[in-house]
Amino acid sequence: MVPGYHRPAVVKVNLGAIRRNLENEMKHLEPGQKMLAVVKANAYGHGAVEVAKVADEVGAAGFCVAILDEALQLRHNDIVKPILVLGVVSPEYAPIAAVNGVSLTVPNLEWLKEAEKYLEKDNLQLKIHLGIDSGMGRIGFNEDEDFIAANKFLENNDNFFVEGMFAHFASADSSDESYFERQIKKFRHMESLLTVKPKWIHIDNTAASIFHSGIKSDLVRFGIGIYGLNPSSTPDTPDLKPAFKLEPALSFESELTHVKTIHKGDGVSYGSTFVADEDTIIGTVPVGYADGWIRKFQGFKVKVGDKYCTIVGRICMDQFMVKMPEKMPVGTKVEIISADPTAPNNIKAAADYVDTIHYEVACLLNDRLPRVYY
Ligand code: PLP
Repeated sequence: MVPGYHRPAVVKVNLGAIRRNLENEMKHLEPGQKMLAVVKANAYGHGAVEVAKVADEVGAAGFCVAILDEALQLRHNDIVKPILVLGVVSPEYAPIAAVNGVSLTVPNLEWLKEAEKYLEKDNLQLKIHLGIDSGMGRIGFNEDEDFIAANKFLENNDNFFVEGMFAHFASADSSDESYFERQIKKFRHMESLLTVKPKWIHIDNTAASIFHSGIKSDLVRFGIGIYGLNPSSTPDTPDLKPAFKLEPALSFESELTHVKTIHKGDGVSYGSTFVADEDTIIGTVPVGYADGWIRKFQGFKVKVGDKYCTIVGRICMDQFMVKMPEKMPVGTKVEIISADPTAPNNIKAAADYVDTIHYEVACLLNDRLPRVYY
């Protein structure tokens, strides 16, 4: 998608807030613990390179991304610290990771055997983290036999350097800790089977780090907390209180591009889901579902000037309309998402409105929206 530099619609990112969230987490780490900053998916929509640079300055030990290309983007932007790709990378690309000093996740023994073929050819060594499925049900070793065989395979194998072993929590953001405890137990069991000793054994994500203590994770893979969002503030988890104040960093702004009065019986947008029952002032905002502002936001209130106005009619691909209490000029600021967590249009309120989580709302805001940093 081409960034829209010639239209008034931007995602603003407060790098000061990002820095403070990272600094607070650094202070909160347990003795000896280090932090990997999770900047996958363009830093949850906030801008991977810019966020990684702040995390680097604040003292992150490295970075986590989801796909190899995200790691290469960081390398091409002078990030030299360790980078772990959390997802499964096709073994044929293992040499690219090795040459760029990028660590890959091992999902199973077959992957190791395949990757070895490609690494052997060029006599390369790849840094790896053994993925453990301790209950997330996604990727990683979940059977003792396979894990023991993988350890044997790695003994005296110069094509691999075992940098880490990790698992991911499914419910560290829940006040019911039973599944969380079960995952730790399984992880510790798999750890006891290790014969090759990794440098880092890690399981903490943001929720584990800010809601729990004493898990003994060498690294915290700190993600949503960087962006100042509480991982437990989701429709299906109660609000747990974080160990320190999280400061949201993202706001989403546009401007009115058109203002008019419509009359009784006039409809707005596709399907005329809104029909005026009296003279009504309608403002048009040049943002739509092609930007990641999905159709379900019809009815949500955004701030136009200093008034909260309801989105009326269906959200189009590139524009949406608001019902306004008074005429305001073209060019009036429209705050679609506020970084103020107490504002009615904060990102959690937006996520609740469309029955999802704030992670998703932030990630959906795509490249057509330029990022502005302050
Ligand atoms: N570790 C893994 C494997 C992940 O997939 C993620 C995010 O999805 C994280 C860490 C970071 O999680 P959070 O953003 O909740 O801190």
